[in-house]
Amino acid sequence: MSPDKSVISVNGRDYRWPDKPVVVVCIDGSEPDYIEQAIAAGVMPWMKKVVEEQGTDMRVHCVVPSFTNPNNISIVTGVPPAVHGICGNFYYDKANDREVMMNEPHLLRTPTIFKAFQDAGAKIAIVTAKDKLRRLLGNELEFGADGAICFSSEKSDQVSLDENGIDNVLDLVGMEVPSVYSAELSEFIFAAGVKLMETVRPDLMYLSTTDYIQHKFAPGSDGANSFYAMMDKYWAQLDALGAVLALTADHGMNAKHDVATGEPNIIYLQDELDRLLGAGNARVILPITDPYVVHHGALGSYATVYLPEGVDIEGLKSQLHEIPGIDLVYDNREGCERFELAPDRMGDLILVSKRDTVIGTTASRHDLSGLDVPLRSHGGLTEQVVPLIVSQPVSGLDRGHQLHNYDAFDVALNYARH
Ligand SMILES: [Zn+2]
Repeated sequence: MSPDKSVISVNGRDYRWPDKPVVVVCIDGSEPDYIEQAIAAGVMPWMKKVVEEQGTDMRVHCVVPSFTNPNNISIVTGVPPAVHGICGNFYYDKANDREVMMNEPHLLRTPTIFKAFQDAGAKIAIVTAKDKLRRLLGNELEFGADGAICFSSEKSDQVSLDENGIDNVLDLVGMEVPSVYSAELSEFIFAAGVKLMETVRPDLMYLSTTDYIQHKFAPGSDGANSFYAMMDKYWAQLDALGAVLALTADHGMNAKHDVATGEPNIIYLQDELDRLLGAGNARVILPITDPYVVHHGALGSYATVYLPEGVDIEGLKSQLHEIPGIDLVYDNREGCERFELAPDRMGDLILVSKRDTVIGTTASRHDLSGLDVPLRSHGGLTEQVVPLIVSQPVSGLDRGHQLHNYDAFDVALNYARH
């Protein structure tokens, strides 16, 4: 190890150069109950050993809105959305009156931890489920034969050395391209991770799944347990290959339906605002929205609202607070301060709904026909607690300080025993 490699600084944080490969796993939608119940059911033998003897089992906070993009980007930059700028899956560009997907790398305001380590000579490997995240995660990395590796299981049949730093992924992994709505989409990531650890042995690896299973299956159910059993098997292999693993989640997941009827509990916020302010005067943005909505109907527990000039914001806040199922109503400043968000990427109001309730726009804009099971989703404060489990003992952490999922690389590189 050369002296210049001993500590890597990025986004105001220092990371120790790893003695062993470090693998951070983001288990999409992994409410802590999933792992706890799978251990209790006896289907995660490796994880049981890690939490009981070998490693460190912690509960930390994710970023609110508890959505996929802001949290994945927080984890790979080590800072909250106020710094990196990705505050949702989606935002409203008020100046140009258009809704913009937050998948474009130019929206990212900071480098990633991977970029800083690659500049210092580290080998980086990133595998994610959906291609929508890949370009953000791989932003500014050099690819090619000796560069970083970054691909999605969704587009694993379309990789190239130039774009992804690897070719023939399907041959390497020995699996077909999985369907975007399947458990295999996530299994492919871990199968690839094990093969990459055996062949390339990257210094840093990031594996990020999709929450298709968690949207469908509650903790402890057969569907959930078999998914967690699958992951356990691959994590055991990565551990056996000498990697240090840090496992966290981008957000939790809760039932968002009436238990008796199975019907989703939805606040149609655009309809409420049309009633209060006149039709079309306010604009509701749901940052969960993305092209893959079949499993959640674009319904989560978080919304931001753009208001016309001259609205009495304090008065409106109290009116919105009256709506049953609403948990919090903040103005832009209050919400961005509390949740560490970028004020220019959020509306005039920020609303969070309660544990069993989601926020929609208007009934006609949500296609619920794809919901073949009662709605489970995320987005609010009630999905903020997530696991951070490290395969090794951890020492020296300041336990008085609230840890976040975006401390995963810090904990794995600086505090885990290697
Ligand atoms: Zn997610």
